[in-house]
Amino acid sequence: MAVASGRSDLDGNPIKAMTICMIGAGGFIGSHLCEKLMSETPHTVLALDVYNDKIRHLLDDAGTAGHPWAGRIHFHRINIKHDSRLEGLIKMSDLTINLAAICTPADYNTRPLDTIYSNFIDALPVVKYCSENGKRLIHFSTCEIYGKTIGSFLPKDHPLRQDLEFYVLKEDVSPCIFGPIEKQRWSYACAKQLIERLIYAEGAENGLEFTIVRPFNWIGPRMDFIPGIDGPSEGVPRVLACFSNNLLRGEPLKLVDGGQSQRTFVFIKDAIEAVLLMIENPARANSHIFNVGNPNNEVTVKQLAEMMSEVYSKVSGERAREVPTVDVSSKEFYGEGYDDSDKRIPDMTIINRQLGWNPKTSLWDLLESTLTYQHRTYAEAIKKAVAKPTAS
Ligand code: NAD
Ligand code: UDP
Repeated sequence: MAVASGRSDLDGNPIKAMTICMIGAGGFIGSHLCEKLMSETPHTVLALDVYNDKIRHLLDDAGTAGHPWAGRIHFHRINIKHDSRLEGLIKMSDLTINLAAICTPADYNTRPLDTIYSNFIDALPVVKYCSENGKRLIHFSTCEIYGKTIGSFLPKDHPLRQDLEFYVLKEDVSPCIFGPIEKQRWSYACAKQLIERLIYAEGAENGLEFTIVRPFNWIGPRMDFIPGIDGPSEGVPRVLACFSNNLLRGEPLKLVDGGQSQRTFVFIKDAIEAVLLMIENPARANSHIFNVGNPNNEVTVKQLAEMMSEVYSKVSGERAREVPTVDVSSKEFYGEGYDDSDKRIPDMTIINRQLGWNPKTSLWDLLESTLTYQHRTYAEAIKKAVAKPTAS
């Protein structure tokens, strides 16, 4: 570790500047975390990914002498599946953060092998190198690890469905409930569960210093891609980008199986505050698994679609469609083997106690800033793409 940064941790101790090996730094969460680390801390980031479009602005600035983060972010184009440089970069760092994963539900049932390899096999060397070299690891898991709620197995009108014990998800209490093997949706959750168990065991048996993060639907600018604009036309991103794409193109939003599943959404900028607290407070974060979400922002997917239509109309100045949504079966939308998490409310006791973190941004406000970004970034490109004559 290098010189003190003039900033203090939650216990009043000075925070020393550190070098962070961030794997998957070019993705949605990685780009926001890099931005935060560059603009508010003295830490150096070794950014590993196969892509860097989402952090290009930071890399360009880092090359300008005298810039606040000149020389503090270095990109390494590395596929961690097969690159001998990985161990050396982990050894050079004080902390490794692993974000790399295949993490879009459309892939879980259609590319289950890639999903399992990415989320388990490819993460194994990272854990091993951290453990063998005495390096701290922050590993990104998922809220999907909880699977379905206990309450979902009760009849629809059963009074126990209203009991918190039957649906709130607690890191140290709740079971992980996945569907049968033929429901390949659960390949992702199962691979993430096994890597969590392996990291936990490395901590218990070999003293690995670790923190596991379980994100609950973090959303915001730069999430995924807009099909046909900065991603494949036939690609299916996560719900924020799917609905943004529909709104930008003036199409109805597609509700999978009626959009009755429930989610809690947290603004990426709130969630990144939680990750920074973990990075800078190892004594409070080590050996813990943290839910990071916003229990106050719960909606059904149908309600999300309605709110997004309303917000988009406000930020774009375009009239909302009279019929904003259309129902589609999961088989038609995702193919064979899809299944769903019914409800995801994070218990916040552990993160509150250890790090004093609470999310701040309401669903309306986070959608307003995110859809303003989507409109500004993509509306013109969509207009041009739609106007282009198709080849006959
Ligand atoms: P993302 O897809 O935007 O980012 C992942 C990044 O990892 C991508 O840039 C990708 O290129 C990179 N990557 C994948 N495989 C790689 C490899 N073999 N070598 C090098 N780089 C590789 O996803 P995200 O939303 O930023 O998610 C980051 C992590 O958080 C993932 O582990 C994901 O499972 C977890 N997570 C995120 C959410 C969320 O709400 N965004 C929810 C649950 C879990
Ligand atoms: N969904 C939907 N329409 C879409 C995309 C997703 O109804 O165009 C639903 C999906 O079936 C799930 C929820 O939205 O119930 C959230 O999906 P997402 O891909 O964001 O990931 P998840 O929260 O399931 O991990």
